[in-house]
Amino acid sequence: MRFPKTRRSLEIFTSFVAAALLIAGIRLNFPKRHSAIAITYPDIIEPGQTLRILARGLSPGAEPGLSFLGAAHPFYRTGGGDYRALIGVPVDCKSGDYEWTLLDAAVRRATGASGSPQLPTPPWGSRVPGLSPWGSAGGRGPGSRFAVYVRPSRYPSAELSMPKGKMALTQDPRIQEAAALIRSKLTLETADQLWKGKFGAPLRGRLTEIYGTRRRVNRNAAWRIHRGQDIAAKAGSPVQAPNAGEIVLTGAFPLQGKLVILNHGQGVSSLYMHLESIAVREGQRVEAGELIGAAGTTGFSSAPHLHWGLYLHGEAVDPQTWLEFEF
Ligand SMILES: [Zn+2]
Repeated sequence: MRFPKTRRSLEIFTSFVAAALLIAGIRLNFPKRHSAIAITYPDIIEPGQTLRILARGLSPGAEPGLSFLGAAHPFYRTGGGDYRALIGVPVDCKSGDYEWTLLDAAVRRATGASGSPQLPTPPWGSRVPGLSPWGSAGGRGPGSRFAVYVRPSRYPSAELSMPKGKMALTQDPRIQEAAALIRSKLTLETADQLWKGKFGAPLRGRLTEIYGTRRRVNRNAAWRIHRGQDIAAKAGSPVQAPNAGEIVLTGAFPLQGKLVILNHGQGVSSLYMHLESIAVREGQRVEAGELIGAAGTTGFSSAPHLHWGLYLHGEAVDPQTWLEFEF
């Protein structure tokens, strides 16, 4: 379809993300000797990307949390004993300066003190006037506040054509119920990390529509954002688990067609749509590379392909980044 252009922009985009993460990592990895608690995160990020926040030096048993864009999210323990929060920056997030807040009770538990934690002043200051990344008002406030800048969106737009016969699916009365069920599975929070390392592609093939693309169907519907990655495939091509997890939903739905949702733990889920057939059952644990189904064109789809979505606490993020970085 729009393959060459999309592919090139994808490559440019991913190398940009790589550079941004590298720069952010260098900037934020200050030496440990400066503090008991070290918080590491990229303070510049794109909409639709994964904001990883690492907290080191918190006491075991602390249950830190954070708030970002009006929602509270947990930190989870990593294998190395640190705490990590993985937050999806919404794909439609407007560019600008934002803040996230380390939840106050968690900080107090972590430091074992009644006062504010002693956090260092980073050498680069803050992008937000009057807001120190390491605590509000000199570290005395309801919670330590951290600045993050969200860049302007760089995702492309595309026209999508759908056969007339498929358009009737958008009027199916079961759509709402299906959406609620799917959402309930994509927002599961379970304490154990089941995935290991980078994700692998669930299917090898060319990307026909990248995550974040603004699309409209048959030139007459409203613009919508594509919250996953489309991989072209011959009908029946094997779809493999990109990482270990537990199957939490299988079924057939009007728009999504045959669908599988995989829970990777700690609020990370992945979703597979338009399958021709499903090879797993709910409750089953799968390892990376294990067969979960076959690609097809069931539901609101015009040609055989796999729609692969990756969700953090119910927020869709760009799956491509998870192929290239270990979160
Ligand atoms: Zn798709």
